[in-house]
Amino acid sequence: METPASKGTPLQVAVVGSGPSGFYAAEALLKSGHAIDVHMIERLPVPYGLVRHGVAPDHPKLKEAILVYDKIARLPHFTLLANVCVGRDVTVDELLARYHAVVFACGAESDRRLGVPGEDLPGSHTATEFVGWYNGHPDYRDRSFDLSQEVAAIVGQGNVAADVCRILAKSVDELRQTDISEHALEALAGSRVKEIHVIGRRGPAQAKFTNKELKELGELPNADAVVDPSALELNAASAAELEAKANVVSAKNVEIFREWTARAPSGKPRRVVFQFLKSPVALGGNARLERLVLARNRLEGEPFQQVARETGETETLDCGLLFRSIGYSGVAIPGVPFDAKRGVIPNREGRVLDADGAELPGLYAAGWIKRGPSGIIGTNRADSVATVKSLLADLQRLSPEPKAGADGLATLLASRGVRTVSFDDWLRIDAREVARGQPRGKPREKFTRITEMLNCLDAP
Ligand code: NAP
Repeated sequence: METPASKGTPLQVAVVGSGPSGFYAAEALLKSGHAIDVHMIERLPVPYGLVRHGVAPDHPKLKEAILVYDKIARLPHFTLLANVCVGRDVTVDELLARYHAVVFACGAESDRRLGVPGEDLPGSHTATEFVGWYNGHPDYRDRSFDLSQEVAAIVGQGNVAADVCRILAKSVDELRQTDISEHALEALAGSRVKEIHVIGRRGPAQAKFTNKELKELGELPNADAVVDPSALELNAASAAELEAKANVVSAKNVEIFREWTARAPSGKPRRVVFQFLKSPVALGGNARLERLVLARNRLEGEPFQQVARETGETETLDCGLLFRSIGYSGVAIPGVPFDAKRGVIPNREGRVLDADGAELPGLYAAGWIKRGPSGIIGTNRADSVATVKSLLADLQRLSPEPKAGADGLATLLASRGVRTVSFDDWLRIDAREVARGQPRGKPREKFTRITEMLNCLDAP
């Protein structure tokens, strides 16, 4: 039977988002054996999403994923349409009129909230703001962080908290030859931060760091890692968790914490202090953050289901700089159903669902906007492949009519004066960034403003 993916009438698929899940979805579509044109739509003029703007500058190995995405972008039938925002420049209905299917792979661009008084006091920031700022994300280019403070706190004990902690704890000499943005390097050069508290609401056995990232925090040339030995006295349920074979990462984390308790202070200029079983219940200060009120917690529940319960005791940590690193959350796209509580697009095996749980033909989700912000970059490959499997299983149900695809969309966007950026355009921006980095010994100096990125395309 003729389907839109038969030769002659290639299936037109728009993938919204150019981060890992978008590229893995594009790859799965282009290598499926069906005749498919993939058009990747990206809000910024530059691709690669969280790999460019999220992965820490001192973790260049992780950025090598870009080499894979570059190859995918060069496959036949792939088109990049960057600098196009769905919901602003084009509606979802307009996409559906031009494409047989739309895959949303737009990640989790916002943060969960603590929901405590004082959360938005000046001096209290989300990890997203700080990460975006030091990574040159145009949305966060003009943020400022009061690095004259001596005590900083990070709430949350996952790998994003570890990234934020390293950037605060390292000396600028350790960061100078990374792709960290110059404006951030300049600000960090004046940092007076001496003490960084990394605060978990549960215990050391429940910290979400991966072993490599945690270990790194104990090997910083400029900072000592500090853990109070009494914090490592585990309750029976936590001890049982560490016995489980599948939980080797947590067992190793606790071993790393234990090793640190045996270390004598070395007198390094900074300290990274791990605190457990504490939850912020209020942020206080006169017009700006001055202190964090922490409730002391105990764990309740069966192994692997333990939750933090307040004991009724509180303590105060004087600190003028706070980063909330308690997990990302997706952002709603106009015209697409959204589960605000989970921060994801509701879906069944990647098929987008309406409020009644019915599948919306032609709409799919992949990656963090599908399942929430979990896993490493590679986790998104299997996730996107699964969504593409659903899409391909639906071929008979998608409109058999030929669709205009990228040409149709480009015409519409041109009529609206939207300046689209192609993959070749990106390669020019890329070359300029690499050249700008060279005199500083950096792999690249990113453009951090959209106008700079676009102006660079107008330059001869
Ligand atoms: P995460 O790993 O889910 O960690 C979130 C942390 O916030 C947990 O410690 C969590 O504690 C805590 N938390 C959540 N709600 C809280 C609340 N209301 N009050 C206090 N604490 C709260 O998230 P993430 O660090 O944002 O990382 C997202 C994903 O990206 C993860 O899969 C991570 O591994 C990945 N990532 C990887 C790398 C890398 O490979 N180098 C780097 C960055 C990110 P509970 O456990 O109690 O919920």
